[in-house]
Amino acid sequence: MTALRPMPQDAGAEDIRIAGALFDVIATRTADVEGVSRPAFSEVETRTLAMLVDFARDQGFDAWYDAGGNANFCLPGHRDADRFTVVGSHVDSVPFGGNFDGLAGIVAGLICLVRAASDETSRIKPLHVLAMRGEESAWFGPCYIGSKALTGKLSASELAARHKGDGRSLDEHMADIGIPMNEVRGGKPLIDLSRIEAYLELHIEQGPLLIGKNIPAAVVSGIRGNIRHRAIHCVGEAGHSGAVPRAFRRDPVLAMADLLVRLDESWSTILQKGDDLVLTSGVVGTDPERHAMSRIPDEIMFSLDMRSQSAATLEEMRTLLSEEMRQVERDRKVRFEVDEELYSQPALCDPSLVAGLEAAMERAGQAPFVMPSGGGHDAAVFGAAGVPSAMVFVRNQNGSHNPKEAMELPDFIAAVDILYEFLKVPS
Ligand SMILES: [Zn+2]
Repeated sequence: MTALRPMPQDAGAEDIRIAGALFDVIATRTADVEGVSRPAFSEVETRTLAMLVDFARDQGFDAWYDAGGNANFCLPGHRDADRFTVVGSHVDSVPFGGNFDGLAGIVAGLICLVRAASDETSRIKPLHVLAMRGEESAWFGPCYIGSKALTGKLSASELAARHKGDGRSLDEHMADIGIPMNEVRGGKPLIDLSRIEAYLELHIEQGPLLIGKNIPAAVVSGIRGNIRHRAIHCVGEAGHSGAVPRAFRRDPVLAMADLLVRLDESWSTILQKGDDLVLTSGVVGTDPERHAMSRIPDEIMFSLDMRSQSAATLEEMRTLLSEEMRQVERDRKVRFEVDEELYSQPALCDPSLVAGLEAAMERAGQAPFVMPSGGGHDAAVFGAAGVPSAMVFVRNQNGSHNPKEAMELPDFIAAVDILYEFLKVPS
């Protein structure tokens, strides 16, 4: 084990020591040239699960693998409970990723078990901690593979997706691990979902809100859905930058800028109404081979990513996008060519779980704070499969999917406190 972190003299000191040691040993053993790399359905992922199993058995917990090849942990006596709460997340990471994205949610569940095992004053509801494989889309393309397989929701096209390194299909990679692929292909859940009372996931926040508000943890209200376009083309007419007067131009760059400003104005109006929306054009460009400083380009390509917690707002934006495009086409004599829309539905967290977690947050001595999640998580898959689901976020510097993600252990413990308070059986 690597050196432990300094131990503050407070009640959570032992939790911090145990969690810090577990995070450190896994970071060290899954390190890449920068950050960590734990590819989905890889040998490194299998090894990470084995490290968690070793830890759990050392603590005296039950540990087993489910049919999806994921590791499960509970206190002795809780494995066969008729109904139980699951605290879970994913062990895989993006290439050169951070150590906490995913892993924090599993360690949080394990710390709840550690606390419960030594808690002489209170009991917790039956709890299964679930360490899942394959959440990140970086390796095969599809995301939430582990939780989709468990809930019987992996599609044929997802199973046919090729690994970006070796080109073999996801189906083959999953079969290698011993997952019963006939059941997965048949859309059969690999676990009995009816036994799961609730699915809870602690995750690092991937945006800057909690840092800005100086709050260590928050309850998540829901996961934003999105409408995305990989490549919208705007086609105009090429010309000499010095020779073509404004009235004769069909400039696709200004047309795209015009469109984005219009969408930005609507975004502001939507926020003023109190609705939720974020909007991004992350890829924008003319072809540098064909275009030059002194040439009006004839074409520009851009991506568009619009996310909201409200399906109605997304629908409103879809309509608005096409109306504004028609207007810009008329005003600027250009043409928009829109590629296939990618859609993912917003997933609201279960309202009674959100209320329960808010109350737990208060009991843990924290002012309740609820916020939406910008990124997608396994919780949305469980929610879509009919399992009441909710999430807790931990403050985290520098976003995620990079080695600089920085979660402070006292913040992590504050978020674990919320889960633990929630799991306690009222005395
Ligand atoms: Zn994650």
